[in-house]
Amino acid sequence: SGGSLIAYAEANTNNSNRGHVAHADAITSNSIAHADANASKKKKVVVLGTGWAGMSFLKNLNNSTYEVKVVSPRNFFVFTPLLPSVTCGKVEARSIVEPIRNIIRKKNINVSYCEAECIKIDPASKKIYCRAARATLNTNSKQGEEFEVGYDYLIIAVGAQVNTFNTPGVEGNCHFLKEIEDAQKIRRNVIESFEKASLPNLSEEERKKILHFVVVGGGPTGVEFSGELCDFVNEDVLKLYPTVQHLVKITVIEATDHILNMFDKRITKFAEGKFLRDDIDVKLGSMVTKITENEISTKAKGSDKTTSTPYGMVLWSTGIGQRPLIKDFMKQIGQGNRRALATDEWLRVEGCDNVYALGDCATINQRKVVEDIAEIFKRADKDNSGTLTVKKFTEIMDDVIARYPQVKLYMKSKRVRNFVDILTEAKGNAAKETIELSIEEFKTALSVVDSKMKNLPATAQVANQQGAYLAKCFNRMEECEKNPEGPPRFRGTGRHRFHPFRYRHLGQFAPLGGEKTAAQLPGDWVSIGHSSQWLWYSIYASKQVSWRTRALVVSDWIRRFIFGRDASGI
Ligand code: FAD
Repeated sequence: SGGSLIAYAEANTNNSNRGHVAHADAITSNSIAHADANASKKKKVVVLGTGWAGMSFLKNLNNSTYEVKVVSPRNFFVFTPLLPSVTCGKVEARSIVEPIRNIIRKKNINVSYCEAECIKIDPASKKIYCRAARATLNTNSKQGEEFEVGYDYLIIAVGAQVNTFNTPGVEGNCHFLKEIEDAQKIRRNVIESFEKASLPNLSEEERKKILHFVVVGGGPTGVEFSGELCDFVNEDVLKLYPTVQHLVKITVIEATDHILNMFDKRITKFAEGKFLRDDIDVKLGSMVTKITENEISTKAKGSDKTTSTPYGMVLWSTGIGQRPLIKDFMKQIGQGNRRALATDEWLRVEGCDNVYALGDCATINQRKVVEDIAEIFKRADKDNSGTLTVKKFTEIMDDVIARYPQVKLYMKSKRVRNFVDILTEAKGNAAKETIELSIEEFKTALSVVDSKMKNLPATAQVANQQGAYLAKCFNRMEECEKNPEGPPRFRGTGRHRFHPFRYRHLGQFAPLGGEKTAAQLPGDWVSIGHSSQWLWYSIYASKQVSWRTRALVVSDWIRRFIFGRDASGI
């Protein structure tokens, strides 16, 4: 790159004797001119975001024919699965972040970083509009300066934001757990609560209110935070704040019938049982209607009665919604009614050229997949009889799966009943192989599958795999342009350049506190307890993005085992 050539020439200059300085300067200016000429020929790739998807794309990209610009208001990557551990001091905030410049400096391709937020995307002119994350010294404005950046390829990986469902009082009264600053704020607030409750001249009721911690949302984040807090109370508060420890109350409010409802039922049952034993109050089927400075109001499912409870601290963790940038962009490209940016199987944003979206801000459009499958059936009906046997259907399914790998995932998923069963349901239990169904019936069955098809979950695992997949496509863009390796094109002739994105689910964890973790591994293998906790430690240590953070995280775990948590709140 231009930058490394300059550095190289400078090193030459410093190491050589004075007589070589002029020569080195000549090399420098030639090199810069050469590098600039090369840079102008390079395709400009702009990456928005330094989270899981953006970082994974950058780490895996190694084609030097691109000039890459990363734009993100955050100049570091956060290992989000360990954010709950930061809230009570099990792990330090600094241990789970990696400066993005550390990541890009190791690349031997031309990558630069801009600490700015993208405020508008204009796909027609292939430009993005940005605002610097910090105001520069020579402006009076508190807001950063605005500028535009042109691109040949745009990679949108801006993640999502907390969804408050417009519940009154959430903004302003609740904590969120999405960014590293959120985890640090929660940590300070938890410690402050114990200090406040230990002050003299407070009534028992006031102390109880201060030490009432409410978690809204029984998903993995809410459950993990509750477990961390409960551990902190049992292991550290007991020694540090013995006079108030018995006044602590943790409440989890969940709108559906179970916590961790995206996990296997065995895990849900175990988690609910464990929380009961740990004295964590789990309120199922309960909706939060309003939050004021002092009280949280809830309504039980099917009841009109509202109950208000005093609280000291609330963590709001009920899911994600799209950022304003993405909402505006979706409206602009006619996707205003969608949940997230719709892409095709190759992560290309529908209706835009050379714009890709991945991670929490995007979703692969399943409807198009279903339409395409219906079309495949139609084409398989060569004699135009309007019918296909289920046998024929099962044969062409292999072809479908080759084209759309995720179909296989859904077919296997327990949530979607066997597709053939759906097809033959209406016909009773006759020999499945010979049943004839009309194309229309296939289509109806497909719409059943469609309604049951789940979008890929908004997880780091998906974002990480998508980033790596897209980088591999970019690495081999020219090669695959000449020799396409993807499935035959459905509309049009020839083959697709690449294979479509294929998600491999590697399992998921739900740490429950007390050194117990629930693990749901591929093949619906469930493991709960101390052994899974050790698996969790080893996997999360191995998944760190650098040896630096790996060393820091492991030493934090060891420090906590030996000395307990740091309760200074700084
Ligand atoms: P993010 O990682 O959120 O990154 C988005 C990036 O975009 C950030 O750098 C942000 O600064 C930047 N950005 C935002 N706005 C703009 C803009 N306008 N312009 C430019 N850049 C912008 N997943 C798992 O698989 N396993 C887990 O155990 C797990 N635990 C989690 C625990 C917590 C507490 C949380 C919050 C999430 C957890 N997740 C987990 C989910 C996982 O973190 C997300 O799915 C993942 O971060 C999504 O990656 P992303 O790259 O799409 O977005």
